[in-house]
Amino acid sequence: MLSVSDAFTLMQQHVLPLPTEIVPIHNATGRVLREAINADRDFPPFDRVAMDGIGIQFADYSAGQRTFMVVGTQRAGEPPQTLREPTTCLEVMTGAMLPIGVDTVVRYEDVTITDGQATITIDDVEKGLNIHAQATDRHAGEELLPTGTWMGPSEMAVAASVGQTELVVTALPRVALISTGDELVAVNEIPLPYQIRRSNTYMVQTVLLSLGINATMHHITDDEAVLQTEIQRLLADNDVLILSGGVSAGKADFVPAVLTRLGVQQRFHKIQQKPGKPLWFGTTENKTVFGLPGNPVSTVLCACRYVLPYLRASLGLSPAPVQYAQLATSITFKPNVTYFLPVKLTSETDGRTIANPLPGSGSADFANLTAADGFMELPASQSEFGAGEVFRVWVIPGIESVR
Ligand code: AMP
Ligand code: MG
Repeated sequence: MLSVSDAFTLMQQHVLPLPTEIVPIHNATGRVLREAINADRDFPPFDRVAMDGIGIQFADYSAGQRTFMVVGTQRAGEPPQTLREPTTCLEVMTGAMLPIGVDTVVRYEDVTITDGQATITIDDVEKGLNIHAQATDRHAGEELLPTGTWMGPSEMAVAASVGQTELVVTALPRVALISTGDELVAVNEIPLPYQIRRSNTYMVQTVLLSLGINATMHHITDDEAVLQTEIQRLLADNDVLILSGGVSAGKADFVPAVLTRLGVQQRFHKIQQKPGKPLWFGTTENKTVFGLPGNPVSTVLCACRYVLPYLRASLGLSPAPVQYAQLATSITFKPNVTYFLPVKLTSETDGRTIANPLPGSGSADFANLTAADGFMELPASQSEFGAGEVFRVWVIPGIESVR
């Protein structure tokens, strides 16, 4: 049976070859760039007034001049005026092109203006003050956003500022979420005493929405023939299938056999971990199938620990920043497998993140999950985990951004 890290590495070796598509900028939020975006002009494109105030010639100031006659106003969005006479000034507005002849801006807070005369009230004016000089941020042609960039708020602003009406991004994979199990009924049904409502697909769908992927939801009963026809149909129409249930050792756990029969090559089945041991992973040339264990805690753990990083890599995004936390209380876990401990995270004023273990009744206790922010990954090599020890955590998306 594979270790957690070997299973993870194997998955990363089979990332999906997703194509690119062109989207209008207003649909590009949260998408992953597949082209570099360069500056079409210098940043800023002209010497830009950085504060509202007066524009002067520094030579006057250094010669001792403090009072300047106001001869006009340079607003943002206007062609530049010219300051011709010594000891005169122009009022200048933030965002305006620096007037010709002006080399220094003194902000209104440091000036008093009476009867058309502006008097500078500070003594530390330097040449070039309050001017955001052309190309100080970036030069025309310079790369602003590399390929693989996630389009968040700042990235959208940069793309807009260089006139990108359309962006080349990774096409989102078509993902189908499939619950399996004869005991499962739909949300709007009243379960019989031996039935439960299906909930896993809603959970996984929410996890995937953090990557902008809106998966469809399906249900198949534990009938081997039906499973085979339905999975075959869904495989034809999707890039990724995420099944829940039917991958353990039960009499109705037909999923691995059916997938193999359909030509999906099993890459692994089972990982040395708790919860989520029965995880199944397989691929075809251009499709991927995850068989997640049906127990809800296992399902969400596998979705966050394996499916999300896999889809991130397939989209062309670099891995999410690694997050660590400090265990709040000691834990003993003897089995020689990686233990994913549900935790509530708290942030301390000294900057530490504390992971508070959530007492629960195992991998079926999903009501308890609403209190969890994620899972702390406790390595298989240890069985005692001391309070204060630092381990990696996998956050259930929602409280962090994708990036
Ligand atoms: P399985 O992996 O099929 O053996 O299922 C393990 C446990 O998870 C069983 O108790 C199932 O009833 C439960 N389960 C499976 N799928 C779902 C689902 N979609 N929603 C809620 N519980 C589920
Ligand atoms: Mg089942």
